Amino acid sequence: MTAPTSQRLRCELCQVEIDCSNGIDQVLFSLGGAGTRSKLWVRVCRYLSNDEQKASCINQDATKRGEEQPGDRYDEAPPLDLGRANGGS
Ligand SMILES: [Zn+2]
Repeated sequence: MTAPTSQRLRCELCQVEIDCSNGIDQVLFSLGGAGTRSKLWVRVCRYLSNDEQKASCINQDATKRGEEQPGDRYDEAPPLDLGRANGGS
């Protein structure tokens, strides 16, 4: 019998869970479904200010979360369409 490689971590500060299965980490946001560690970092964990908070956060390891990806910040923002002026004469 092999031990399951799935593990569920919880970040008390950020109020999210990270599901680690087969080497793939999925952040389970309370809103909006699953995402990546980099997404969690950009949206939440980077705003932790003091060392006590950082010590409690499970997403402070840069090698685990990787680079910030496009779309990590806010995917609900529509593409800008400012070219469409109000018209008129
Ligand atoms: Zn965190």
